[in-house]
Amino acid sequence: MSSISPSRKQYLEFKQQFPDAILLYQVGDFYETFDDDAYITSRELQIVRTSRSYGKGRERVPLAGIPLHALDNYLGKLIQRGYKVVIVDQVGEVTKGRDVVERAVSRILTAGTLSEPNLLPARQNNYLVAIAPARGQTALAAVDVSTGEFMVTWFVADELPVSLDAELQRLAPVECLLMEGRSSDGYQFPGKTITITHCPAYFFQHEAAQERLCRHFGVQSLEAYGCAHEPQAVAAAGAIIAYLEKMNVSLLSLLTGLRSYRTTSYMILDAHTQRNLEILHGTRSNTVAGSLLGVLDRTITPMGARQLRRTITQPLLDLTELDARLVSVEELYGSPALRNRFSSCLQELGDLERVAGRIRQGTAVRNEVLGLRDYLALMPRLCDLLQSCDAPLLHALSEELSGCPEVGALIDRALLRSDEEDESGDEGRIIRPGYQAELDELFSSIRDSRRWMVSLEARERQRTGIKSLKVGFNKVFGYYIEVSHANARLVPDDYMRKQTLVNAERFITPELKEHEALILSAVERIEEMERSIYADLLRQIGVFYAELMSTAAAVARVDVLVCLAEVAAHQGYVRPLLEQGHRLEIVGGRHPVVEAGLDGDVFIPNDTRLEADLSERVFLLTGPNMAGKSTYLRQVALITLLAQIGSFVPARQARIGLVDRIFTRVGAEDDIASGKSTFMVEMEETATILHHATQHSLIILDEIGRGTSTYDGLAIARAVVEHLHNEIGARTLFATHYHELAGMADELSHLSVYTMAISDDEETGIVFLHRIMPGCAGRSYGIHVAKLAGMPLSIVKRAEHVLELLEAGRGSEPAQTPMALSSADRRAAVASSVRRQVAETKGVVRGMNTQPGSGGYDWQSDE
Ligand code: ADP
Repeated sequence: MSSISPSRKQYLEFKQQFPDAILLYQVGDFYETFDDDAYITSRELQIVRTSRSYGKGRERVPLAGIPLHALDNYLGKLIQRGYKVVIVDQVGEVTKGRDVVERAVSRILTAGTLSEPNLLPARQNNYLVAIAPARGQTALAAVDVSTGEFMVTWFVADELPVSLDAELQRLAPVECLLMEGRSSDGYQFPGKTITITHCPAYFFQHEAAQERLCRHFGVQSLEAYGCAHEPQAVAAAGAIIAYLEKMNVSLLSLLTGLRSYRTTSYMILDAHTQRNLEILHGTRSNTVAGSLLGVLDRTITPMGARQLRRTITQPLLDLTELDARLVSVEELYGSPALRNRFSSCLQELGDLERVAGRIRQGTAVRNEVLGLRDYLALMPRLCDLLQSCDAPLLHALSEELSGCPEVGALIDRALLRSDEEDESGDEGRIIRPGYQAELDELFSSIRDSRRWMVSLEARERQRTGIKSLKVGFNKVFGYYIEVSHANARLVPDDYMRKQTLVNAERFITPELKEHEALILSAVERIEEMERSIYADLLRQIGVFYAELMSTAAAVARVDVLVCLAEVAAHQGYVRPLLEQGHRLEIVGGRHPVVEAGLDGDVFIPNDTRLEADLSERVFLLTGPNMAGKSTYLRQVALITLLAQIGSFVPARQARIGLVDRIFTRVGAEDDIASGKSTFMVEMEETATILHHATQHSLIILDEIGRGTSTYDGLAIARAVVEHLHNEIGARTLFATHYHELAGMADELSHLSVYTMAISDDEETGIVFLHRIMPGCAGRSYGIHVAKLAGMPLSIVKRAEHVLELLEAGRGSEPAQTPMALSSADRRAAVASSVRRQVAETKGVVRGMNTQPGSGGYDWQSDE
């Protein structure tokens, strides 16, 4: 160590404390990074890496730096990519001769502990989670420090890992706390990056965690928070408190409560299902585009947008609650004028939730506080609107809104708006005159001294006879009297020379010095005083934190209801009828996302019917690839999900018995990372379904057994369907291109067989009509799909020939004809499908052009 320079030694001492973080180390006007950190920052931030030597004969150290003023921009990038950042600032004076400046850690930043609005996505929560696993129970606690939401849930051994993965998928945390020594390998985190932070064991230790939580909430027991008897839940929530205590104590003031919940109180959507149904992300884009959320999100406020994400991933199981939402959506749906009034009011609202948090933390800037006053001023209007509604839920929400008039009045009394600043005549003033007498006195003494300065100019001109004499001020020299060289001889004796310029001399007088000192000390006092008045103002507003947060929560819910009504009106959705039991009847159902992507063309609606008494419970759909099977299956799942979040649905009519859980098993991709083949993944997913499905579940199986040999595949698919049909009895939709499976209908009395209609005639060739009809597909049409995909014609011809030979060998199967379609219907569908398929082969995916609402086969509704 002896050859190490003192400044290098100082750096290494800091670095030793934070081996897993990137140290941004202030050196003058730059934040420098050294060693491995320099490699990381130069790569991640695209900045130049150089090296620096610490004296003769010493090693050269890699170095990459960013300018102080650009910190926020670079910081955001590092944190989003999962790095932990520690900022070390210079705190001592830089003195010549001493090469080591005193430094201190000023901030520790991780993805999960950010509350700076410019570093956070506005329309999404930013969750930090802690996982506390144990043999009998595993708990997951989550907090969003930018909104104060703090919650915990737990899973018994039987529910793992499916339910934990589902919650992780839903919450999409940015940072996860684990106990030292625990690996994160077994957990399925969605998204590209997550910061894994290992914490000391005592963070998770049950008794310590319990005591910490009780101390934080100021209570004797955790009974009121619903997790007192769940040791792992206490451990996970306690670890979060310990971590925030260490990282940034001011964040703790935002956590005013802890919500315990069980995932079984909501419809369960496991992680695969959330991905397969593309609920929050389109699988192709991995963004909200192409997802259900993308179609639904017409929310206006940031808290509404965050609430919609939660709503959509936590469908309800309670008919009364659902009915309350549906009645509200219906009322809003029925009145475009009412929706407009709500929208124009919501449009003026900003992020009430996060502003309230920053005020509580004492970090909000003046414009945020002024913003809060404007938001609160809108509450009476929003409240009146809600009270003018008939829906009881909308009425009830009006009672949760509080305009907090005390807060508005306080802000009005205390703060000057920036446009009023100049009017006040006091430069840089932020506290309103009249708010505090002492401050006003200081401002008035400054005004007096300034006036004196102005009069000084006139007086001195008269006294000296120098007409061009000026009184001025600059930051380095303070106040001065300026006289041109030409008038130098007229300068009186009491002037003291201060500075010489090219054309002029600057002087001071003892009297001037005295007044200057008065002004400067008043300015200093004012700054100090305004700072403390402002901090006190934030504290006073912070007292209303709980009220502000429940107002924000109510606004978020209103925003979501208005959004659902807006979507229903624009997309032509209808109110579903929800009930207990196992019915699943959809007339003219559409896929909300595919439909929205059709760009003006029309989606072909299809019906679904499974009986309430489960006498018809398994729906087997055969048909070639590209015929529309997957679209159909997912549309049934999405319609069910929409109904259970209290939304209208894309159909002409829908009647649905509540579903406790949607399972999907959809064409998997190799999970290369875990070394599993497609087939293995497929079998695991299927096994999960067979273990967890109940009679109330909805199961969507899109091909089973594709990843193995035909006979194996067929055998497995058949055994699975038989088990679902005979043992579980859940509503099941099963798509397959193994048309051989249709034979099961003879043995399974609750199974019905459908196929995708195809038109195959001389005139138009093969056309997929995207309609379901009873019956079974006779052919696979694989060669037709290959042709559509642009396979060379010679290969297509050869394949057709080979197929003929093969079919001759086993006796060809009859091609199906779409008997159930009327001839007019068929003509329209053929025409539009031809257009569509031509467009698709050109790489443009577009929709069809038949009349909306022209359903597939007709069945009598029993209503
Ligand atoms: P499969 O699962 O049978 O291979 P898909 O469901 O993937 O077929 O559908 C193939 C294409 O047909 C998709 O690109 C989809 O956009 C379109 N499509 C499916 N169903 C319909 C429909 N009902 N109306 C219009 N287009 C549809």
